[in-house]
Amino acid sequence: MVPHRVPRWPSWLFRASPGWAQTARALGAWVPQGRWPGSSRGAGAASPLARRGCSSMPSQPPKVMLTQERYPVRRLPFSTVSEQDLAAFERIVPGRVTTDPGELEAHNVDWLRTVRGCSKVLLRPRTSEEVSRVLRHCHERNLAVNPQGGNTGMVGGSVPVFDEIILSTALMNQVISFDDVSGTLVCQAGCVLEQLSRHVEERGFVMPLDLGAKGSCHIGGNVATNAGGLRFLRYGSLHGTVLGLEVVLADGTVLNCLTSLRKDNTGYDLKQLFIGSEGTLGVITAVSILCPPKPKAVSVAFLDAVGPAGADHGGAEPGRLRVQVRPLPARGAALRPRHLPARPPGPTRQARGGLRPPG
Ligand SMILES: Cc1cc2nc3c(=O)[nH]c(=O)nc-3n(C[C@H](O)[C@H](O)[C@H](O)COP(=O)(O)OP(=O)(O)OC[C@H]3O[C@@H](n4cnc5c(N)ncnc54)[C@H](O)[C@@H]3O)c2cc1C
Repeated sequence: MVPHRVPRWPSWLFRASPGWAQTARALGAWVPQGRWPGSSRGAGAASPLARRGCSSMPSQPPKVMLTQERYPVRRLPFSTVSEQDLAAFERIVPGRVTTDPGELEAHNVDWLRTVRGCSKVLLRPRTSEEVSRVLRHCHERNLAVNPQGGNTGMVGGSVPVFDEIILSTALMNQVISFDDVSGTLVCQAGCVLEQLSRHVEERGFVMPLDLGAKGSCHIGGNVATNAGGLRFLRYGSLHGTVLGLEVVLADGTVLNCLTSLRKDNTGYDLKQLFIGSEGTLGVITAVSILCPPKPKAVSVAFLDAVGPAGADHGGAEPGRLRVQVRPLPARGAALRPRHLPARPPGPTRQARGGLRPPG
């Protein structure tokens, strides 16, 4: 296969470092030549919002190459969607069948803009029953389906490879129950992680996972990718915190393992199969998850990695890692190092224009 030069990384990932535009271009990222309006970062400060089609920027990033052109993949002998199929979908999810290419564009391209499918149909069910009816129809008609949550996945699984039907959980966003004694949350798969966080925090609990994509990713997508995130070391993986799942299998069968028992030894623990399955075994439609109590205090650790010899590292020994652990300051209180020897002499970060040094 002829190697293609494609934008592999979004350019804004490189913006923190000096000379980032050159580095980004060298690695194949698309870097615009002009200035983005409102940007103080100079030429090439590409807006992630613009990349996601949320901006009125005149200049558009180049189209992402179709996955089927980029990789040597072969479409399996699935049927293609017919007018009769569209009519059937319209009966199952009335008013929630999208065929507009403009609207489909954002659902065909992944978050990193590395892969692109060419689906012509997007379905937005609201209930497990609707998901079941859609999948039963697709199973009978031999139509391929790609489940999609917030489309923030980083491995290309959230978008079709060819013309699979996109089944979005965006409208399956209802909290079913929350037990404020045990901290058990039961919700539909399309709930956005950040909204769930807010919901449980108001009741004195926290979600056992937190990640940078929390404003867009869905809890069903988190389970399907076995997402880790910032709280992984503290609260463990979703294999431990997910108590139950409801899943619709490819033939439309609803598998109800939506228990909220912490100890359930009855038979096989089937839900574990679906955690991290990336939508290959079924569509997760509801999740039961254990939320730990909200911590009374939070400490922040600053990890200060000292650079290589010759670099300006404030006189500290190269190759050593300094760790500062501090409680979050009360309003107006100065930050004070608690578990750290005095900072070595040398220019402070403040003098170099960086973080304010501890008072
Ligand atoms: C800024 C950023 C930070 C991130 N940080 C982390 C991190 O710290 N740790 C980490 O592990 N990951 C991280 N990720 C990636 C993470 O996997 C996804 O953000 C998230 O878990 C995917 O959820 P989603 O709803 O966007 O799913 P999508 O991207 O829509 O889908 C991901 C996969 O799950 C499948 N899927 C989605 N919903 C369902 C469903 N209901 N049933 C069955 N299959 C489904 C899709 O088919 C696809 O294969 C990050 C991503 C971004 C953009």
